[in-house]
Amino acid sequence: MPKQQRVFPDAKAVAAALRPSYPVYCLRPDILKRRARDFLTQFPGEVLYAVKCNPHPLVLDALYAGGVRHFDTASLPEIAQVAESYADAHTYFMHPVKSRAAVRTANEVFGVEHFVVDHMDELEKVLAETRTRDLVIVVRITTPPSLGTLYHLSAKFGAGPDEAVELLRRAASEGCRVGIAFHVGSQCLRPDAYSIALDLSGQILAWAGVEPVCIDVGGGFPADYVEMTTEPLQDYFDAIRKGLKANKVKPTVQILCEPGRALVASGCSLLVQIQLRKDGQLYINDGIYGSLSETVDAGIRFPSRLVRLVGGEPSRETRAFVLNGPTCDSLDVLPGTFELPEDAREGDWIEIDQVGAYSNALATHFNGFFPETFVTVQDKPPAQQAAA
Ligand SMILES: *Cc1c(COP(=O)(O)O)cnc(C)c1O
Repeated sequence: MPKQQRVFPDAKAVAAALRPSYPVYCLRPDILKRRARDFLTQFPGEVLYAVKCNPHPLVLDALYAGGVRHFDTASLPEIAQVAESYADAHTYFMHPVKSRAAVRTANEVFGVEHFVVDHMDELEKVLAETRTRDLVIVVRITTPPSLGTLYHLSAKFGAGPDEAVELLRRAASEGCRVGIAFHVGSQCLRPDAYSIALDLSGQILAWAGVEPVCIDVGGGFPADYVEMTTEPLQDYFDAIRKGLKANKVKPTVQILCEPGRALVASGCSLLVQIQLRKDGQLYINDGIYGSLSETVDAGIRFPSRLVRLVGGEPSRETRAFVLNGPTCDSLDVLPGTFELPEDAREGDWIEIDQVGAYSNALATHFNGFFPETFVTVQDKPPAQQAAA
């Protein structure tokens, strides 16, 4: 009999059942499935999940159940994980810098055909390490730095226009199919970033004089956080459609996207416990070396609420608290403040929402703290909860 995954009605039920003094990720597979379906039905092309954003097997399973069959992978372990989990999945090697062994193994063992490059030496490496020319060489280009994102991802990777033209021509002359890719940066708050980058892609393809088989618009689609409301996903897809039309991209060209954050951020919350209160300071059991490094890296602020099991309801009055992480490093303090009931105290839990992206994926073992417990939660309206 297949192992039955225990499903909790909500985070409070998790607290009641486990009384966890360690952080617990509360996964919502139904939300992940719905996000996957939204992308798959609305994006004008193929949706590749960017595995690095959250590689947990339960997350991949939920996205797979939602219909995702294509995966943006950046390393051999990611490729192996996807290939070993799903017989009908396709992986794409989207890291612009790969080891020779990884290129060869990806192609020969896992049948990977798509390889991203942003430098001539890397292209020569891929050509030398593969025995077939049945490849799609995807040239990653740089995009302008000011396209409204929290992380600028062209600082490290991406070929300039002249180099991109050379790469496209060289790959085509070797008999490879070619494509072009960009990544506008994570948590992109401007839909028109995609049409601007598509204009640049169109120019480069025209200069190179090659017919692409694919155009990959990357990731960067945003999630909602505190004081960071975002345009609807549809506006991003409209901007992409507009960019494709303006550049007369033929319908035979496969359009790819590589969402990470926008697919998974809302599918997971984190239940942390207050270990000590010192006036306006709460010491909790997860922090910037664990699940919450994006509070520092990107200034992201997560919605949160208090969960209390004993001693009645928390106060309706709130105040601003500083949340301290568990390690001994004085840097391990979450930036800004969290508005919580003013009587928050040791033993209460805090449910931190929207932590599905770049949380467990970035957690370290520093100081002996490592968040690794995942449970499945299926939030229902309170009336249904009472009836259940
Ligand atoms: C990180 C990354 C992604 C995912 O980015 P999100 O901002 O999470 O959507 C997609 N593609 C590439 C090449 C990446 O490096």
